[in-house]
Amino acid sequence: DGMLMSDLSRPCRMMLLVNPQSGKGQALTLYNKHIQQMLSEAGVLHTLVITERQNHARELVREADLSQWDAIAILSGDGLLYEVINGLLERPDWEDAIQTPLGVLPGGSGNALAASIHHYSGASPVSGEELLVSCGFLLCKGLVSPVDLVSIHLSSSPRLFSFLSLAWGFIADVDIESEKYRHIGAVRFTIGTLLRLASLRVYRGRLAYLPATEDYSNKRGVKNNMTLQCPNQASSLGPASLLCCPSRVSPCQNTYHNYCHSNNSIKLRRMESTSSHSATKGLPGPPDSLLLPLDQPLPSDWVVVQEEDFVLVLAMYQSHLAEDLLAAPAATLDEGIMHLFYIRAGISRIAMLRLLLAMEKGAHLTTNCQHLVHTKVRALRLEPYSPKGIMTVDGEVVEYGPVQAEVHRGLARLISG
Ligand code: ADP
Ligand code: MG
Repeated sequence: DGMLMSDLSRPCRMMLLVNPQSGKGQALTLYNKHIQQMLSEAGVLHTLVITERQNHARELVREADLSQWDAIAILSGDGLLYEVINGLLERPDWEDAIQTPLGVLPGGSGNALAASIHHYSGASPVSGEELLVSCGFLLCKGLVSPVDLVSIHLSSSPRLFSFLSLAWGFIADVDIESEKYRHIGAVRFTIGTLLRLASLRVYRGRLAYLPATEDYSNKRGVKNNMTLQCPNQASSLGPASLLCCPSRVSPCQNTYHNYCHSNNSIKLRRMESTSSHSATKGLPGPPDSLLLPLDQPLPSDWVVVQEEDFVLVLAMYQSHLAEDLLAAPAATLDEGIMHLFYIRAGISRIAMLRLLLAMEKGAHLTTNCQHLVHTKVRALRLEPYSPKGIMTVDGEVVEYGPVQAEVHRGLARLISG
């Protein structure tokens, strides 16, 4: 699957945003050493835009005349792509804007999406400049695929969009506490991890989620699927299943039919609540059909996690959390689900270290650790009990407090080879 990022009748025009401060501060050197020639030889006309400060890329992308560009790429860490995606979705024409093919070249200290794309290409793991060269080739190839985005609701900030992760507890703390070691590159995470392990702590809160059904997560392209059977109702197609699965009667534009469950009465209620949900009214971006406002009780078909003491909570929607952390080995670009992980309190330091080491190869799920839980979800809500703490979205700090998230299948497009 995948389309080319531009038609072949003329060269591709790409905006390439470079954050000179990302990683070890060598993004421009990396561009000159590896990328400039590669793109020229591939016939990719690109305009280099050097970002000057935080949110510069976000503002540029929000105001840009997108008819001038076939693609927008970044040479930086995940933070700059986060700005690009949110800038696109803040536009009044977000629906077209978010179709702009996006490219990722790793130049930061956190290059998780680049590592994920490389992983999906089937190549064996690499890091550093080798990862950059690999992603450079994928960018030149220019194959575009849909990629999931997750909308994130916080208690008082505007809604955000995320392409990678939502983290609370151990991983969020390591990511942010290690920012001061940015100049040493990705090693900062190793050092941060060891420091956090030495003072391992418990994070208290309430976690709940809407489970993803196996049928749903296995089915690619359900969004445009017009088959006559609801994926979860293969055997019993009563009259109510028409409601459950509007795609049975017409090619449905409403993404709602992705959310089929067996309980049709719940569906009916949720469809009503969808139309009356005001949290996203008037804002650019797609509506969140699975979420009720944060100050209201959870929908009754959500699962509330019994434990309230965690060492970490992590939702991932791509495979890698960092260049050398294969946190969600089963993740793909646009499966329409989040991989939710949590580690229950009570885990020993040594078991925790073992898990983190196993994660380098994606083997943490097969270590049989009783404290680690992995489940696939379509939406989640997390309510920390402590008044202060760190929560990250795609590795960036966000407002601390209650948060909820819903996945939007294939909302953006990524040049991924
Ligand atoms: P890294 O992986 O090294 O953290 P990121 O791409 O995540 O790299 O960038 C880190 C932060 O730097 C982002 O929040 C981005 O907004 C910000 N930024 C972008 N351009 C600049 C600049 N010229 N000076 C300082 N910060 C910048
Ligand atoms: Mg970053």
